[in-house]
Amino acid sequence: MNTSSRIALVTGATRGIGLETVRQLAQAGVHTLLAGRDRSRAVEASLKLQAEGLPVEAIALDVTSGHSIREAVREVERRHGRLDILVNNAGIALDDWNKAPSEQPPETWRQTFETNVFGLVEVTRAFLPLLRASSSGRIVNVSSVLGSSALQADPASDYYAIKLPAYNVSKSAVNAWTIQLAYELRDTGIKVNAIHPGNIKTDMNPNAELDVGVGARSSVEMALLGADGPTGTFTHLGETLPW
Ligand code: NAP
Repeated sequence: MNTSSRIALVTGATRGIGLETVRQLAQAGVHTLLAGRDRSRAVEASLKLQAEGLPVEAIALDVTSGHSIREAVREVERRHGRLDILVNNAGIALDDWNKAPSEQPPETWRQTFETNVFGLVEVTRAFLPLLRASSSGRIVNVSSVLGSSALQADPASDYYAIKLPAYNVSKSAVNAWTIQLAYELRDTGIKVNAIHPGNIKTDMNPNAELDVGVGARSSVEMALLGADGPTGTFTHLGETLPW
């Protein structure tokens, strides 16, 4: 059992912002579990970071599978006995840009919510006992500025016209859930915060300009918050975003 350094787990970490979040947490000296729904790809990604001398190990975790979540919790409990940092990064965006909000099919809504909302809530609930076993638990929910209901409703906002309803509303739900859980845990050492990573070039957002180095920074900052840090916030690189 590892008792010396902090233990983190990042979901959806086989590529994109999640993979870079693992790298930056490990570079900060945190023993980091790189979680992927495909075990072999998680192992492959972990081996590359281990070759850079980073304290990273792979774990299988499909956030839409109760069985996979339970197995991952058992594995972390067996290997480490606790979890200090959970970064809920896994996410999908399925909306068709060429369809109006009312035209997105029900299956798009269901699949998006399964991963982005129900999966995130179930993973968090399942790991909560191990986070409570930490002296300073941190939960980071990777949301999006597109989940800001205030900006989505504001004709003056740059994001007003970006209407990807299933994705945007799923991230609004992540924000709302962050508020609920932060309230529940307000008198514990566990801090729960939502972040927007930025407009980052990944498979999900291939036309963006910022690289994953920037994209991981908000998650890492909130994962490494000190005891005097905030809880129940929605931020991007330290700037507060409207809910
Ligand atoms: P990405 O490159 O598409 O990576 C998404 C990751 O999520 C992949 O590792 C994928 O795993 C994983 N994933 C999907 N479904 C999963 C499941 N059921 N269980 C476990 N893992 C699953 O996307 P990204 O841009 O890095 O996005 C990371 C997070 O940032 C997402 O929550 C996204 O909504 C958010 N975000 C991104 C941007 C942006 O500009 N890129 C902006 C705002 C918010 P596989 O490799 O197995 O598919």
